[in-house]
This record gives sequence, structure tokens and C-alpha cells, in this order.
Amino acid sequence: MKIGIMGGTFDPIHIGHLLLAQFAYEECALDEIWFLPNGNPPHKQTKEGQDALAHRVEMVRLAIDDVPYFKLCLHESRINRHSYTYKTMQELNALYPENEFYFILGADSLFAIEEWRNFREIFPSCIILAAVRDDKDADDMKMQTVYLEQEYNARISLLKAPQLEISSTTIRERAEKGLSIHYMVPDSVADYIEKNHLYHAKDKKQ
Ligand code: ATP
Ligand code: MG
Repeated sequence: MKIGIMGGTFDPIHIGHLLLAQFAYEECALDEIWFLPNGNPPHKQTKEGQDALAHRVEMVRLAIDDVPYFKLCLHESRINRHSYTYKTMQELNALYPENEFYFILGADSLFAIEEWRNFREIFPSCIILAAVRDDKDADDMKMQTVYLEQEYNARISLLKAPQLEISSTTIRERAEKGLSIHYMVPDSVADYIEKNHLYHAKDKKQ
């Protein structure tokens, strides 16, 4: 099967992530998209960190629940430590040799990938799908693609997908101020955030 990997902190998951995944699924004729919530970084190995991880995972579960080809992949969150992409992709290939993996990225990451730990080892283990917003982005991204292909034998496909001016950071900030986050996240996720008082300033421990 052709599997798209959509990694992220997902704190919280939002419609930007979901749209990117949906476009990748359609444009590249993938069989499934696996949402891969990152494990906690070392400084979050606390009770609070454990709770936050459980909430991030649960919100992804709620967001993708009604889409049969969107799956939750607990590979990084189950071990609950920070994982590097190259390692995760090697492990997923070893676990599922019958699958072909496509790693989905936002445009910014394609330019930053040389800063990732052991990034050269990412390229043999997956095809990169990099989201292009519009024609203006496309020229720069094509140049970067050719560079990475020639330099490191990377396999990269550019993916035309909308990139909304939404980030998890904005959503956390809005929730903290008591502003609405409806329309930015699925209703089930907005309800979950509300019910569990996530990101609300008054509930923050000092
Ligand atoms: P934060 O604000 O906490 O950094 P984020 O919204 O950027 O969160 P991440 O979990 O960091 O979300 O991103 C996961 C993946 O989703 C990355 O590949 C990123 O490029 C992509 N992504 C994030 N926001 C959008 C968006 N609005 N549209 C399309 N892709 C996005
Ligand atoms: Mg981000």
C-alpha cells in the first residue's frame, strides 16, 4: 500500500493539517494517511507532559474518526520520547516492508530539512511530498527539489495544496484569550478542548 505519513505535534490538530492530508491522499492516490503525533521532548517527561501527550493523541483520534483512510499511528507517542524522522521512517519500513511511505511536509520544512538529525537517511526510506501553496512558491521549491535530488538522491514530489494561515500556536493563543476556535478545528476537537479546559489561561498552573 501507498501510505502518507503526516507527522506533527498536533497541539492541537487543525484544519490546515487535515486539508493537507486530504490533498495528498487525492493527488498522489495514496491508500491511507497515517497521522503520527510526536512523542514528548525530554523536558516534557513529567505528569503534565504525559497528560498533554494523551490530549494531543485523543484530539487526532477525534479529528480523523469519520475518515476511513485516515489512521492514527502511535509509533512515536507510544514510546513517549522525542523521535527523529529518519529513525521513525527506518522503523516503519522494517515493520511494514510491504508498504511504500510518503512523508508529507509543509513548504518551509523542505528548506530546513538539512538541519534535521541524520537527514540523509530519510531519503532512502520514503518519498517526500512537499506542499506548494501557489506558483510563486513553486519556482523556489522546484530549485530546492532538484538540489536535494542531485545532492542526496532524495525523491521528492511537489503537492499542490492549500496552506491556510492557521497554526496550532494561533489556536492555543486564541483559546487562552477566550476567543472562539470554531472553524479552525473540527467541532469534536473544539468541544474536547473546551471540556478539558486545554490552553485556558485560568487553568494554567503557575
Ligand atoms: P505549531 O504552531 O505548534 O508549530 P503547527 O500548526 O505548525 O503547530 P505542526 O504540528 O508543527 O503544526 O505541523 C505539522 C505539519 O503540518 C508540518 O508538516 C507543517 O508544515 C504542516 N502544517 C502546519 N500548519 C499548516 C497549515 N496551516 N496548512 C498546511 N500545512 C500545515
Ligand atoms: Mg509548526
